[in-house]
Amino acid sequence: MIEIDGSRGEGGGQILRSALALSMCTGQGFVLERIRAGRAKPGLMRQHLACVNAAAQISDAQVQGAELNSQAIRFVPGTVRAGEYSFQMGSAASCCLLLQTLWPALMLAPEPSRLRLTGGTHNPAAPPFHFLQRSYAPLMNRLGARAELALQRMGFYPAGGGSMTVELWPARLKPFDLLERGKLKVCHAECFAPALPRAVAQRELQALGAILGWEPGQLITGQARQNEGPGNALLATLEYAELTEVFTQFGLKGVSSEQVAQALADELQSYQASKAALGPHMADQWALPLALAVERTGLAASYTCTEITPHAQSNFEVIEKFLAVRFVVIDRDGGFEVSAEPL
Ligand code: AMP
Repeated sequence: MIEIDGSRGEGGGQILRSALALSMCTGQGFVLERIRAGRAKPGLMRQHLACVNAAAQISDAQVQGAELNSQAIRFVPGTVRAGEYSFQMGSAASCCLLLQTLWPALMLAPEPSRLRLTGGTHNPAAPPFHFLQRSYAPLMNRLGARAELALQRMGFYPAGGGSMTVELWPARLKPFDLLERGKLKVCHAECFAPALPRAVAQRELQALGAILGWEPGQLITGQARQNEGPGNALLATLEYAELTEVFTQFGLKGVSSEQVAQALADELQSYQASKAALGPHMADQWALPLALAVERTGLAASYTCTEITPHAQSNFEVIEKFLAVRFVVIDRDGGFEVSAEPL
């Protein structure tokens, strides 16, 4: 049994989700204690429990401690079964985080899978659907893990009710280096603000355009039905030759449209000030699929990133517990280069 201390480093839900994913991929059971000890409300919340239960269902696992607020779980996977699954997250918990928990195990199964996930599709502190579809999935595809993602309905906190489908095909993993972005091809911003006054989206987009010097044609009011709201997500998509990055900020009550736009512009400008390939979120999320590809082929691979966040650091630690891979991080050009090396 692999023992994991959930209070280490970042101390959040990702430690749990990565452990579930890697446990199913490798067949190794784990005990996780002090779950989410770094958070204000530690233990398993509804969204984490949904990930544990879904993982148990697709891998026929034996689980102890899968209860709300539980501070420890024991998870022993059986055989992962590809196929058709439907998972309801309940409330607005993130479908995207659930997908990232299940994807690695399902891509290693010999048959394709089809998932229908309902809950939140655009949640603060989680990858939004558009990030997964435009940034994460194309890199997974290049790694040999093909998938098609479709959004049926947006789901925002707290109403939820979003829905997405995902088709996943068996992967043939081949690691690759991702050291440069390549040339910027297209960039644009979108505001999805269903069930809010139209002026909100217009003001956010105008303010963003003014800060970044973007043309009106680059500022798009996203299509969303009224009943998908209320919600307010301001996205910027930067499409480079080698990858696409999506940055997102959420509007909140009491935060002006201009402040939302400024926060997104700050994020974008700090990414653009660097030459590194991956932004801070992709940098932690890319580590797990890349490490699987490295271990399976015995070939090392590297990526550059603008930041090494506590999420990235904790993820490296969890991955190193399950896989015969080690991460080496060096400073490079004001950013970082992360190498995943087979042991
Ligand atoms: P945790 O906080 O441990 O539940 O993990 C949250 C995960 O969501 C991490 O992988 C973050 O990088 C990711 N994440 C949070 N915000 C965003 C965002 N705006 N875009 C993409 N990924 C995000």
